Amino acid sequence: MDPLLEGLDPEQRAAVEAPRGPVCVLAGAGTGKTRTITHRIAYLVQRGHVAPGQVLAVTFTARAAGEMRTRLRALGVTAAQARTFHAAALRQLRYFWPKVVGGDQWQLVEGKLRIVAQAASKVGAPTSAESLRDMASEIEWSKASLITPDGYPAAAASTHRDTPVPADQLVLVYQAYEQLKNRAQMLDFDDLLLHTAAALEEHSEVADEFRDRYRCFVVDEYQDVTPLQQRVLDAWVGQRDDLTVVGDANQTIYSFAGASPRPLLDFARRFPEAHVVRLERDYRSTPQVVGLANEVIKWARGRPAGSRLQLIGQRPDGPRPTFTEFGDEPEEASAVAQRVRKLLADGVAASEIAILYRVNAQSEVFEQALTELDIPYQVRGGERFFARGEVRQAMVALRGASHAPPEGDLPSQVRQVLARLGLTDEPPAGGSAREKWESLLALVELAEELVTVLADADLARFAVELDMRAEAQHPPTVEGVTLASLHAAKGLEWDAVFLVGLVEGTLPIMHADGDDAAIEEERRLLYVGVTRAREHLWLSWALARAAGGRKYRRRSRFMYGLVPDGHPATLGTKRDSLQKRSKPTCRICSATLVEAVAVKLGRCKNCPSDVDEELLERLRTWRAGRARELKVPSYVVFTDATLLAI
Ligand code: ATP
Ligand code: MG
Repeated sequence: MDPLLEGLDPEQRAAVEAPRGPVCVLAGAGTGKTRTITHRIAYLVQRGHVAPGQVLAVTFTARAAGEMRTRLRALGVTAAQARTFHAAALRQLRYFWPKVVGGDQWQLVEGKLRIVAQAASKVGAPTSAESLRDMASEIEWSKASLITPDGYPAAAASTHRDTPVPADQLVLVYQAYEQLKNRAQMLDFDDLLLHTAAALEEHSEVADEFRDRYRCFVVDEYQDVTPLQQRVLDAWVGQRDDLTVVGDANQTIYSFAGASPRPLLDFARRFPEAHVVRLERDYRSTPQVVGLANEVIKWARGRPAGSRLQLIGQRPDGPRPTFTEFGDEPEEASAVAQRVRKLLADGVAASEIAILYRVNAQSEVFEQALTELDIPYQVRGGERFFARGEVRQAMVALRGASHAPPEGDLPSQVRQVLARLGLTDEPPAGGSAREKWESLLALVELAEELVTVLADADLARFAVELDMRAEAQHPPTVEGVTLASLHAAKGLEWDAVFLVGLVEGTLPIMHADGDDAAIEEERRLLYVGVTRAREHLWLSWALARAAGGRKYRRRSRFMYGLVPDGHPATLGTKRDSLQKRSKPTCRICSATLVEAVAVKLGRCKNCPSDVDEELLERLRTWRAGRARELKVPSYVVFTDATLLAI
């Protein structure tokens, strides 16, 4: 058999061997989607259906793109491009710039929040750090959703978005932001995509040249495509149909940013002749982990047809996932660090261990605990690396030096530039000087990594790489335990995974409460987290934040039904006032519960899960609180008529 088809199951093989034309792989986590597309690319190249340079494979994070390049190289394909949408667009835009715009190339926006701040103060909108961040993400959402400033109010209303400032004020901020940015001749990351699409749509000679250059398109993680990315993809593909997409609707985790699994699920309707392949065998994780993943996702509500696949574990049995409750976060972090140390002592490589959490702010306590045990780690998805003074300085210096005649190979050029900023051959003794030295060295190592994939990369290309990484918050790789947010962990896998901080308010995140769609996205995040583990999976939560703090937090509602019987009772701890105020919901499906129904049926009215005494107690507490607020006797709260009024 063709070696490229060995190590593939019959369904994967069918997707690899499908003739040129539209192919769609709809499958769950760990079923080999990424493996299938890399083999397909190699197969098409090997059979002479396409030249490697004519392949453009795109995905969503720099790390995933890097992973795809590594897998392609291992299959003997070096010239195919595997990039993020943004990196691909940036490259094309730079190339087509003289034809479509002319003049100096616009620079990428640095310090986007600064421009949003200027825009906000110009139109009298709030300028607190939080408002600026919220307004910036709202502008990003709009651009990713192809919504112009004028279209914003209607779009926000029809999607029931919580707007950070009144919609008509956001319109003004959005307009002012665009003006300021354009006047300064700068491009933000969404502009890269917008301009690329426009260049192809409006300039037929650009489109012709492009379509001559690229003939075969592949998209990984297609469930998270935004309308803007889809527009770019359509512009790339044009009237042709040589497009392979793979994805898992259960892993849509960017819908807050405008992404949607619809194009994935509707692919076969759009291309009726498409080969559609479904994969169910999970090759990544032990049956124990797979079982838990199936359990997590089976309660998802509103799952579209086509996403209701059961994963079937293929690997030998492994340890059962464990669930642990801690009194406070430092206790949780130190227990996790101890377990990491034990794994390392047992011979598991540090790079095969990950600690995953919902929000980046959670990393700190785990960083501390790992530092105390002298365990090396790297934080992914955090801004820290690129926010460091020396890294920012280095980026400016490297960009400046890129105009000088590009002596020596790229890594030694980078070393020369950074030597002026204090990069010595030998590391300084310790403390902050050592930290600074380590980050500068990481940049040299990044340059070394870049030339292995892009032999002719020069300083200018390196500067672009750094910009992209800074935007994608993708710091250079350092050997060590990975700390990452669940969003940053998508598509990746580790032997041992710790899912930490599984408390209400964190996963699901506080602002998702009461919003069914948002709760479902949180559930999918947990599913993404669980399915990252090959073998060891620890889930944990802490009832208080600080050591000795008030224990008011509750374990995540998603743990209910997953934690095996006999686990020490974790409920019934003091409730915070927020929980008293919010309407109790079923822990499985998160439907709002009505006490009358729950008592009568003994189960949730929406899904068949039992309603336990603890939840009933919460319902009673909530009812009493609500009755006090409404100044009515508590029994009134649940008569049908008043229910409608609540
Ligand atoms: P995700 O949805 O998380 O992105 P995926 O569907 O892309 O997952 P891959 O990363 O391609 O899955 O594969 C998961 C793991 O299973 C990888 O380690 C891959 O090498 C392995 N694998 C995939 N297919 C097979 C197979 N047929 N035989 C053995 N191992 C396989
Ligand atoms: Mg994948």
